[in-house]
Amino acid sequence: AKERGRSGFRFYQPQMNMSLLSRMKLDHAMRLALEQQQFKLYYQPQVDLKTGAIVGAEALIRWHDEALGNVSPAHFIPVAEETGVIIPIGNWVLKTAIEQASQWKSKNIIIAINVSALQFQQSNFVEIVSAALQAAELSPAFVELELTESILINDAEDALQKLQALATLGVKLSIDDFGTGYSSLNYLKRFPLNKLKIDRSFVQEAPDNDSDVAICSAIINLSHALNLKVIAEGVETEEQKAFLIDAGCDEMQGYLFSPAIPADEFEKLL
Ligand code: C2E
Ligand code: CA
Ligand code: CA
Ligand code: CA
Repeated sequence: AKERGRSGFRFYQPQMNMSLLSRMKLDHAMRLALEQQQFKLYYQPQVDLKTGAIVGAEALIRWHDEALGNVSPAHFIPVAEETGVIIPIGNWVLKTAIEQASQWKSKNIIIAINVSALQFQQSNFVEIVSAALQAAELSPAFVELELTESILINDAEDALQKLQALATLGVKLSIDDFGTGYSSLNYLKRFPLNKLKIDRSFVQEAPDNDSDVAICSAIINLSHALNLKVIAEGVETEEQKAFLIDAGCDEMQGYLFSPAIPADEFEKLL
């Protein structure tokens, strides 16, 4: 079950309600889960709005723990970022998603991988990515890294260097949850980006909410003016899809088409 659901509390931080003890317990459980290979990756299709074709998938982590049941990443990822265990988890995600992408390379789809700020700050992050690509014999062109705005704000010089190295390698770069973080548009012209992802919170009430319609349209126009692609996440209704097509959005991702599903199920859609 999705505890994040449709609450729409954009600024709610699950970890703030957790005691130090429960965070430590969760940290321990996550380290154990890594060791015991309890994490899985699911894949959510990304669909071209013009052709209807599946052009990619976002890798999303899933965790079923015997004692805790299904634990939502919205719950454990923030704690993993706090305790630092996001680094081994994130590196596992990267390696696993790249291995999966390598099995799908004849299908011509791009696998989008979430990258946490702490993970990105590893001094050898670029080497980790390039080593995983080499080990899987995968062309970097099949991989897109989803970055948060915070990655670009913290130590912008270091971020710029890494992003340039990744872009030179041939990896695609997108900004996740665009517009929800520190809204500095400055980085859009400085960093070698390929795509913006419109956050679900702006899509949710479109096309009824005039402000959300204006924000979505502005992000789409901004993307195209900067030669970036644009994808909307959290698309649940035909009305949202029709609005996005009308507004010129390139791609969509959301329950309307499919939730995140296991790799073998995703493969059947290709
Ligand atoms: P996100 O990167 O914004 O991912 C999109 C979230 O929206 C996913 O939740 C996805 O299942 C959900 N979603 C997709 N379509 C719809 C829809 O139509 N309606 C609704 N209501 N929700 C939809 P999920 O999988 O629970 O992940 C939550 C967050 O946890 C992600 O948000 C991301 O920030 C983080 N996360 C998940 N997997 C990873 C990972 O491998 N690494 C890192 N660093 N973070 C991850
Ligand atoms: Ca994402
Ligand atoms: Ca997102
Ligand atoms: Ca989001």
